[in-house]
Amino acid sequence: MRTSQYILATLKETPSDAEVVSHQLMLRAGMIRKLASGLYTWLPSGLKVLRNVETIVREEMEKAGAIEMLMPVIQPADLWEESGRWEQFGPELLRITDRHNRPFALGPTHEEVITDFVRKEISSYKQLPLTLYQVQTKVRDEVRPRFGVMRAREFTMKDAYSFHLDDACLEKTYQVMHQAYCNIFERLGLDYRPVIADTGSIGGSVSHEFHVLAESGEDAIAFSTESDYAANIEKAEALAPSTERAEPSKELNTFDTPNAKTIAELAEQHGVKAHKGVKTLIVYGAENEDGERGLVALIVRGDHELNELKAEKLPLVDSPLEMAKEEDIVAAIGAKPGSLGPVGLDMPVIVDHSAAVMSDFVAGANKDGVHYSGINWGRDVAEFTTADIRNVVEGDPSPCGQGTLQIKRGIEVGHIFQLGSKYSEAMNAGVLGESGKNQVMTMGCYGIGVSRIVAAAIEQNHDKFGIKWPQALAPFDIAIVPMNMHKSHRIPDIAEKFYADLKAAGLEVLFDDRKERPGVMFNDMELVGVPFTLVIGERNLDNNQVELKNRRTGEKVMLDIDSAVAEIT
Ligand code: ATP
Ligand code: MG
Ligand code: MG
Ligand code: MG
Repeated sequence: MRTSQYILATLKETPSDAEVVSHQLMLRAGMIRKLASGLYTWLPSGLKVLRNVETIVREEMEKAGAIEMLMPVIQPADLWEESGRWEQFGPELLRITDRHNRPFALGPTHEEVITDFVRKEISSYKQLPLTLYQVQTKVRDEVRPRFGVMRAREFTMKDAYSFHLDDACLEKTYQVMHQAYCNIFERLGLDYRPVIADTGSIGGSVSHEFHVLAESGEDAIAFSTESDYAANIEKAEALAPSTERAEPSKELNTFDTPNAKTIAELAEQHGVKAHKGVKTLIVYGAENEDGERGLVALIVRGDHELNELKAEKLPLVDSPLEMAKEEDIVAAIGAKPGSLGPVGLDMPVIVDHSAAVMSDFVAGANKDGVHYSGINWGRDVAEFTTADIRNVVEGDPSPCGQGTLQIKRGIEVGHIFQLGSKYSEAMNAGVLGESGKNQVMTMGCYGIGVSRIVAAAIEQNHDKFGIKWPQALAPFDIAIVPMNMHKSHRIPDIAEKFYADLKAAGLEVLFDDRKERPGVMFNDMELVGVPFTLVIGERNLDNNQVELKNRRTGEKVMLDIDSAVAEIT
């Protein structure tokens, strides 16, 4: 590829609306552009990386015995009615109506469609087990799309579904898929962990998530300090033996909110009722644009059927919140960013020690040493710091019985489930068993966030100059940078020959044939993250040499022109 005939589309400035480094670098390196909230166009170099991920995913799926197919994005509502998820899925399911007034959904996942397909096509136990997969566009009307392609409204997922006569067979395939996922993340060169997970809105019994470890990750994962136990925080918390949570560090003598001494009183004062399954009540002090101060209370409910943290509104909140995140509250009440919490407002933040919420809270607060006034359910007013919260979260004994829990942040890049008969039963998907009787199938499903992986990989592979692609993901294998080519007699021919020879050797080559200053070209190649750059300059040519730079190590080696291609390939 010649840069002069390509859209490199690199940007010097960091776009101001991009919060995390992967989003910034994907924009700056010319990989993506935003069309609208959560909707992105993939530019040529970004698409190459996306395709590289897809290739590895496909290869490992095929090795695991899965067979590729492709289902429609648009799905008829009646299938979702059958499974019960038309109601359950909530507003994340983007619904449309056709010209005949028939309801459809834009597929966020494909359990219904595949179950419908299999119940029609597969009739005998002899055709089982069967694993089918697709790499396809998914649509989810995320409440808060953010971080670029990391949480998009339209994204690429690999989703696989397995069908079995019994749970023992499902369990076997599940293990094969688990291994295939490990192979995929291994080959992608990512630092990842499989963790025990909740089954959420997809349903089923056994489930694992695969997380790429990164500080910017939206999820908290709990690790045992003494075994290889790892679980997502909700699961770890649900399983952890209940213990006395650590006490906040300091008692406060004053509590500035009138007439409220305990959270129970506060709750009553604000009309908060305890609901079944309530996990946590958080009350934020806040100031809105008009300078009005008040309390915003959120009931955060771990509703496992819906897999959504639901927040209930109180007076200052005039729209129902889907997620109990600080930014959402800011948006909902029109508060000044940064005005949430008691700091400088004489307002309490009340946090019940639920690890899942606390760790999100810590991540949101993002700073140690910040003071929160607070009160525990039924306890006295107290003051504590981010570090205290972290201690509370991290000191739970591990459910595995060994060591205590340590919290890290992760990006969920894959999720696998043993669904059992949840969908096959609801949708009446059975086969004739050996005995000649109809038997409901058991199912597994296995998702990978293909496009999210691209962003997650950048979170783990970058420096201040740009992206440092692992070889398996890089959009190009090597860049050729001829220095001041237009001023030289020798360089153009030599550069052209390298371009032809390296391509012939099977490499993806980016030939920077622009009439740019060498500094501009080097900066672009580092930003884009090309693993190797071959620098062709007058001075080295006098010694019949070219320079090869390694993007990851920064190492530079001199190569003889005649043997360079052989040494590179
Ligand atoms: P999350 O917890 O991040 O919302 P999820 O649990 O809702 O993800 P799954 O239903 O498990 O997602 O889907 C399988 C995979 O699809 C996820 O592990 C993730 O990698 C990817 N994915 C989910 N939602 C998005 C999104 N909005 N944008 C990009 N990738 C996504
Ligand atoms: Mg989700
Ligand atoms: Mg999830
Ligand atoms: Mg998931």
